[in-house]
Amino acid sequence: MKLTFIFAFVVFFHVSLAVSLPELFNQPWEDLSIFEHDLVSSYQAPNQSLPDLSIYHLDLSLSDDLSQVTGKEELLYRNSTGQILSELVFRLYPNVLGSQLLVKRVEIDGVLTVGRLEHSGSVLRIFLPKALAPNEQTIIAMQFTTQVGQGSESYGRLALYSEALSLAHAYPVLAPFKEGDWLTDTPSPLGDPSVLEAAYYLVRVSAPVAQTLVASGSLINLDETGDRQTAVFSTGPAREFYLASVTGYVQLSQMVGETLINIYLPERFDHAAGVSLEYAAKALERFNQLIPYPYRELDIVAMPVLASGIEFPGIFTLTNRLFTNPAGSLESVLVHETAHQWSYNLVGNDQVLEPWLDEALAQYLTLLYHRSYDSPQFVEGYLDFWNATWHEATDPLEVIGEPVSYYDDYSYSGIVYGRGLFFFLVLEQEIGTDGLERALSQYYEQYRWDFVSGEALKTELELVCKCDLSELFDRWVDKKY
Ligand SMILES: [Zn+2]
Repeated sequence: MKLTFIFAFVVFFHVSLAVSLPELFNQPWEDLSIFEHDLVSSYQAPNQSLPDLSIYHLDLSLSDDLSQVTGKEELLYRNSTGQILSELVFRLYPNVLGSQLLVKRVEIDGVLTVGRLEHSGSVLRIFLPKALAPNEQTIIAMQFTTQVGQGSESYGRLALYSEALSLAHAYPVLAPFKEGDWLTDTPSPLGDPSVLEAAYYLVRVSAPVAQTLVASGSLINLDETGDRQTAVFSTGPAREFYLASVTGYVQLSQMVGETLINIYLPERFDHAAGVSLEYAAKALERFNQLIPYPYRELDIVAMPVLASGIEFPGIFTLTNRLFTNPAGSLESVLVHETAHQWSYNLVGNDQVLEPWLDEALAQYLTLLYHRSYDSPQFVEGYLDFWNATWHEATDPLEVIGEPVSYYDDYSYSGIVYGRGLFFFLVLEQEIGTDGLERALSQYYEQYRWDFVSGEALKTELELVCKCDLSELFDRWVDKKY
């Protein structure tokens, strides 16, 4: 995201293959080929599919006024934690984002089960009727409704606006399980709220026919019957599924390699569509040099959100005001959000506890872009802006590696985005510009679709420089390293 104010020894041989057939889609769980529609060739099976990842089947029906989603969810989960699990933990993010997600019914392998709401309703702990052994699979089926608010929580990422619906984090999603526990941190208002592992998504959306549906993944089917339409999207691996529903927008598209970039803007901003596509195309070309962008589609959607931009897998939103003056910060913000397709989606991290890892990296990738395409004066301007923002922080020497909640309003942007960018310039001095870029390529390659901490990045950097960066990480990031 980019802020506006410039954020015992037991071996189990039992592997259950006897999972029941999916009910929401006529698509066998073990057949992952449907997800290849959305992937560029270098990411396609057989060697690239990841059978340990969860598979989400979602059926989302938007009410005629778009204020309510009636949902069904079916999820194939394989216990890859290495532990026996007696419960599963889901996040219900809308309940802390000014909206309301009500889970009505939960079945585990066809058995009705109970759960407990925690953390202001944002955590649903489901008690398994039968313990789940390592590598065993289970199917969780849920029915839910999401009432979409009109508020500004978390920059209005989940909200109904006059000409658009921004539907972020609107379904029950499994929390990551790390170091023996489920991650259930309560989001801080300043940063990105979601903490997510990569998964596969097959999603059916029913909506009024006049709406244009723009979503994570590729559209694989569209039916229109009367005043309703039904669209099916597939994507994955992906951190989550995001949907925008818009009316009165214009669309412009451009191919870059195997990827189609689409931009969707309210008609009054159509003058900014061409230049936006140009920035996005250049960003993809530049970042593809690190490791290719995984998908066949990248969508950019204008939204009246309160952050400059908000990233989701294969899609991001940009706030409307950026398009009123395309010569302003549109380029840097658009490129920053594109960079999140690498840092956040391809390689994930805890955005609540370790926001620097994706945000400072997105800032540095944006610098790489500007160096490639813009004048030295422009690059200097970008660095000057973030240097000034850094020094507006309450304490400019604050470390960049704290949780979002640690920082005050001025320091979050100043330290995590500002000082964070300059940390990578210090790393350049230490291991060279080429060395740093090589390390980043290896980081994205080594950890693609994983969920990592800063330690992973430090390891890749040290492998390239054959040096110990502990002192540098202590001084700039924090004492954990
Ligand atoms: Zn960001």
